[in-house]
Amino acid sequence: MPAAWTHTSQKVLKMDELPLKERMKIDRHPMPAQLPEERIKNFDEVNLGYSLQMAQKEAQRCLQCKDAPCTKGCPVNVHIPEFLSHVIKGDLLASADVILNDNFLPAICGRVCPQETLCESRCVLAKKGKPVAIGNLERFTADFTADLRSEREMEDIADPTGKKVALIGSGPSSLACAGDLARFGHSATVFEALHAFGGVLVFGIPEFRLPKSIVNYEINVLRRLGVRFEKNIIIGRTLTLNELFNEEGYNAVFIGAGAGLPHFIGIPGEELVGIYTANELLTRINLMKAYKKESETPVLSFLDKVVAVFGAGNTALDSARTALRMGAKKVLIIYRRSEAEMPARKEEVLHAREEGVEFIFLASPLEFVGNDDGWLAEVKLQRMELGELDDSGRRRPLPIKGSEFTMEIEMAVIAIGNGTNPLLRNTPELEFTKRGTLVVNEDTLETTKRGVFAGGDIVTGGATVISAMGAGRKAAQSIHVYLSE
Ligand code: FAD
Ligand code: SF4
Ligand code: SF4
Repeated sequence: MPAAWTHTSQKVLKMDELPLKERMKIDRHPMPAQLPEERIKNFDEVNLGYSLQMAQKEAQRCLQCKDAPCTKGCPVNVHIPEFLSHVIKGDLLASADVILNDNFLPAICGRVCPQETLCESRCVLAKKGKPVAIGNLERFTADFTADLRSEREMEDIADPTGKKVALIGSGPSSLACAGDLARFGHSATVFEALHAFGGVLVFGIPEFRLPKSIVNYEINVLRRLGVRFEKNIIIGRTLTLNELFNEEGYNAVFIGAGAGLPHFIGIPGEELVGIYTANELLTRINLMKAYKKESETPVLSFLDKVVAVFGAGNTALDSARTALRMGAKKVLIIYRRSEAEMPARKEEVLHAREEGVEFIFLASPLEFVGNDDGWLAEVKLQRMELGELDDSGRRRPLPIKGSEFTMEIEMAVIAIGNGTNPLLRNTPELEFTKRGTLVVNEDTLETTKRGVFAGGDIVTGGATVISAMGAGRKAAQSIHVYLSE
């Protein structure tokens, strides 16, 4: 267990719940963080975590609402007032037990959930001021109790059922599914195409937001529960889905293969040297550690370069902040809508601004132009304005005629979204939508092939860690029912 993110040496204070009037006077505690000028020189985690005292004070802001609107905003319904009341009393193991009942990966979700659109958006305090820092407190509880929790994890495992389940992919949907399957007594094996486990948690989200030691800790918890992990196996190539049933003897399969196929903009010049997809860039840097001299995987030098990142989701922000840490002189986020429509987590936008990332809104690329050596030299852009709402519920960006302009850039990162990988489309019984996502029964998450279940980004398209995890747990329940029939 990584020592840096545990606080068990801190003395737990027995605090009483303050009278309402007193609680209302406490300001939200900001998350302590590395200073921007320091953190852009390293890949260490930006947020440093609450101290015990901060956590207890922040939890005291909670009004313990009987109807818990915050819980309704959480995709897995973490019992928020209950876990916060234990934090106030200093009983952090009890707090962790409440969270773990619903959320299998609290140290991860506390760090990466978009709380401002989920639990914290429903907090009654958000109506007039700042919501309780639920994510920060969830992270605190998980970190504080990390070493204590491991003693308890084996307590509620059912006797072996003799049934075998294969899980395709090792992202949060499969991890959550495998954990529950192991608790039901089924034998779970996770097959991962890459050489490391965790899906986007390890190859997408950078170390400075989510240390890999935390993901590895959670994977080791699953190993102790009996889950097996097989790397470098691509289902659909190394083994087909049907071979898992017919030759390997699995009784059911969960597909948690994510949405890892990058979309391109589809404009001239996208093949020029100096243009990366966010997927490639982040995989080289996060998974293959290309920022380290000893890494065998190279990455083009960002040193003193002007870098433009296209898109405004978490992936774009992660790419921009990674480029800064790789030594870029100037990093621009270029987005065709306005700031209000940016899908990235609020904290990432704030952190990126503090670190010096610049934003150009309402501009869309038309063409990348290279120099004589085939290297990216400039981008032609067009100004946009916002029209009516589109299917995504956001205002549609519309080009403004005659507003074209050119900008000199040396590197570009395309971060406009991902589709699903076509590898599993060679299973004829599986039905896919036009977008390439898997068709499932919404109640059971069973696919059109009997005994095969699916969840996470492969079903929804790019979404969130907590929604993928929620789907994994729901599928585990259905698989258990299916195997018990
Ligand atoms: P994934 O995490 O994508 O994992 C799928 C795994 O399956 C991968 O490891 C892949 O290699 C493997 N696989 C694929 N096909 C096969 C095959 N045929 N055989 C074997 N293995 C296979 N969400 C948040 O909530 N907060 C954030 O801050 C956030 N930041 C993000 C930043 C980036 C850069 C990206 C890309 C996404 C981010 N997301 C964030 C989204 C979130 O990470 C995903 O929604 C979530 O990881 C989806 O989980 P999953 O289990 O469906 O798939
Ligand atoms: Fe909020 Fe995410 Fe925790 Fe749910 S899992 S309470 S959404 S931080
Ligand atoms: Fe506490 Fe806010 Fe939830 Fe009310 S809505 S119980 S104040 S976290």
